[in-house]
Amino acid sequence: MKINILTLFPEMFEPLRQSMLGRAIDNGILELDVTDIRDYTTDKHNRVDDTPYGGGAGMVMQVQPILDACEGAGYGGEVLYMSPRGELLDGAIAEELSKNDEITILCGHYEGVDQRALDMLGAREISIGDYVLTGGELPAMVLVDTVARFVKGVLPKEESVMNESIYSGLLEYPHYSRPAEYKGMAVPEVLLSGDHGAVDLWRWEQSLLLTKERRPDLFEKYLAEEHDFSKKEKGILEKYR
Ligand code: SAM
Repeated sequence: MKINILTLFPEMFEPLRQSMLGRAIDNGILELDVTDIRDYTTDKHNRVDDTPYGGGAGMVMQVQPILDACEGAGYGGEVLYMSPRGELLDGAIAEELSKNDEITILCGHYEGVDQRALDMLGAREISIGDYVLTGGELPAMVLVDTVARFVKGVLPKEESVMNESIYSGLLEYPHYSRPAEYKGMAVPEVLLSGDHGAVDLWRWEQSLLLTKERRPDLFEKYLAEEHDFSKKEKGILEKYR
């Protein structure tokens, strides 16, 4: 999958080249192409923003450098504009976007971008939450990371994105690793038992508990769905209904 970024701050994308995404890029599973919009301005002072027509605070990113950068870099695919007024990003949107061979992400700054750039590019606006950040670079990185996890070959073979919190329908159970006891705090005994059935059941119950406490909306949804529960699971469920 090819992911293109249009930004005024290309250096901000270096963290995406680390860890799992870095490996996916090195292995050719992902291609990340970042373009500095400023390289395309025709303004003799290298400006890329100007005051808003109609007045008001702040500056607006101008249409010319954005459109020329997109065309000059040869970017295609679905165009996304990171914006607090966009659709709220969730797993379903990330999975849907991961099916594209190419996407182009436009990062805003200042007050935002000239509407004509969004209209010309047919940009879909995506928000990462009901709060406002200084620029679209961090939201774009969040989007790239979560989309990439759905791209085949990005996660190690044994890991499935669908087993994670939220996607599985429940929040994930607590994890423990060595040592078995640390400063008097012991790992739950069942995890040391070697009984895989008992471990699975314990983890599922922990997931139910956490989801009920922290995300009653998800819990109700999970209960309303069709599940092939075992007799033991049905017994546990009765406690939490
Ligand atoms: N004036 C804009 C508004 O009220 O909708 C906010 C502009 S914000 C200061 C600058 C840029 O940060 C935006 O153009 C957008 O690209 C990005 N941004 C800020 N918050 C965001 C969010 N929650 N999700 C996605 N992008 C966001």
